[in-house]
Amino acid sequence: MECFSCRMNRDLAQLPAAERVAADEHWRVAHCFDTALPGWLVLVPRRHVTSIAELTDAEAATLGTWQVRLSRALRAVTGCPKTYVVQFAEKEGFAHVHFHVIPRPADLPADRIGPRIFGHLGVPEDQRVGDQRRDELAAALGAHLAGAEPAP
Ligand SMILES: [Zn+2]
Repeated sequence: MECFSCRMNRDLAQLPAAERVAADEHWRVAHCFDTALPGWLVLVPRRHVTSIAELTDAEAATLGTWQVRLSRALRAVTGCPKTYVVQFAEKEGFAHVHFHVIPRPADLPADRIGPRIFGHLGVPEDQRVGDQRRDELAAALGAHLAGAEPAP
């Protein structure tokens, strides 16, 4: 059965803004759908791979650039002083490699610092960042990335 990420990867033009914040030939960026934290992004390879070791050199070559540029865009758009970057791909149905690029707000409560940031993920629907807000954030982040200066 096709996994969620592969289904989303199949036809980017059909996706809502939140599912295609940005993309290149190897990677797609989406705003997480079940998070309470505005700006929580996932960076997903365009191919179905379930281990980082399966990434090609070409995919690996832009991985770091994506992580850094997304972190800069999140700093500019959400005001977060730093980001967390995390990859597990352990949840059932989500074995497709995905790097969480998470804005770490300055006022993050002490009980959510570090790995406990995941308390903001998989939240009930009434606590999630809404579809409209996710699309707005996606547009703002996408615009920032499009205008971003190349890495020095
Ligand atoms: Zn997949």
